Amino acid sequence: MHMEQNPTRPDPAAGPAAYRDYARQWLRAHLPGHMHADSLAYRTPTLDECRDWEASMYHAGLAGMTWPQAYGGLGLTLREHLVVNKEVGALAMPESVSSIGKELAGPIIQTVGTEEQKLQFLPRILAIQDYWCQGFSEPDAGSDLARLRTKATQEGDSWRINGQKIWTSGAAKAHYCLLLTRTGTVADKHRGMLMFAVPMDTPGIRVVPIKSIDGKESFAEVFFDNVVVPDSARLGAPDEGWNAAIRVLSIERATNRMYRAWRFDSELRQLVAACKSDPELAKLLDDGHTQRRIGEVVGEIDALKGLVERTVEQLMAGKSIGARGSLTKLHWSECHQAFMGLALSLVSHVTPRSSALAQRAKKHFTTAYLFARAETIYAGTTEVQLDIIAQRIMNLPKDL
Ligand SMILES: Cc1cc2nc3c(=O)[nH]c(=O)nc-3n(C[C@H](O)[C@H](O)[C@H](O)COP(=O)(O)OP(=O)(O)OC[C@H]3O[C@@H](n4cnc5c(N)ncnc54)[C@H](O)[C@@H]3O)c2cc1C
Repeated sequence: MHMEQNPTRPDPAAGPAAYRDYARQWLRAHLPGHMHADSLAYRTPTLDECRDWEASMYHAGLAGMTWPQAYGGLGLTLREHLVVNKEVGALAMPESVSSIGKELAGPIIQTVGTEEQKLQFLPRILAIQDYWCQGFSEPDAGSDLARLRTKATQEGDSWRINGQKIWTSGAAKAHYCLLLTRTGTVADKHRGMLMFAVPMDTPGIRVVPIKSIDGKESFAEVFFDNVVVPDSARLGAPDEGWNAAIRVLSIERATNRMYRAWRFDSELRQLVAACKSDPELAKLLDDGHTQRRIGEVVGEIDALKGLVERTVEQLMAGKSIGARGSLTKLHWSECHQAFMGLALSLVSHVTPRSSALAQRAKKHFTTAYLFARAETIYAGTTEVQLDIIAQRIMNLPKDL
């Protein structure tokens, strides 16, 4: 296909198909060669390179599709958002370096933030000027957020915060923390919670990195020791923190990173192409058991695409998806974890004599396999999603 270097951005009224063609042309023409995860020229991009790439996508009109124009967005619909996501997923490009800002903090600020907060935060999130982290989980409160203890106490026009968060992704690079705190006692359970936008350079915040199984230090423990923030850092009304948190989690489970299904599709093609590039590995693809497992992955990815597309159509029709976000979360995490198990079993046959493409695939899929171990934990564990589906979709009793 002929690739135009600078395709013309469609008129906002042009509809999703025009955006799909534009996104496809622009992304393929501009994604730097060394950022294609499936290419031999690939090298791990630096944080600055990822930021510049993502900011250039924003300036090309490929981010903030549904955000209001007043706050830097394009004011389009979820349908345009979905078609752009499909094109993003189809390319083996780096994951967003700002997904917490764009997919969690941004939507919640649009819902509960003041006009000043929207103008202050939203355009900077889209232009990748600020990174955000999400400070929800605590040592005793992961799945059960009602047990969180980090305390916020009002003192005149400001709030004093004390406590600890854990597993905070991207805390070391973040400019702001979307922080969930407690204003009452743990006995208040879901009442007495309050959310803040806390600048990470506020005195009293200490970030202690946690090393993960892949050798990286991408998440951390975050300690809050007499951290004082002005009342203007509060997101939403006091006591509304739980409702705000639930909204964040339902977004996280249902509509964020819509590109996942299309990314999985492209990863599967990448895996098969790498195996085909090497005579020894190619033989594995003839095996009936392997073919059955690949077939299962294809079926699961297609089902996930269907779930995402149905969610978009329901939201476009003004319907609430409620607890059904848990179906999507459960499905993508279980499906990808099983797929990465298959990928690892294939690339484990790669030797130093295998093709260069197969060697590249071994590196990529070994790392991806390790990260997939966490997919059934973060954004809500599989067991918790199953509980939600049983109780809130199937109306089963809490205790059988
Ligand atoms: C890679 C990664 C990134 C993360 N990033 C962030 C982040 O940026 N910000 C943040 O705030 N948190 C983050 N987390 C934390 C994540 O949200 C929690 O780990 C998760 O919510 C589970 O909580 P927990 O670890 O306390 O486990 P627990 O809640 O203690 O659960 C332990 C086990 O008990 C099961 N269980 C718990 N309750 C029930 C129940 N009611 N019914 C059945 N089984 C149950 C769970 O499924 C699990 O198997 C991240 C986690 C990972 C792995």
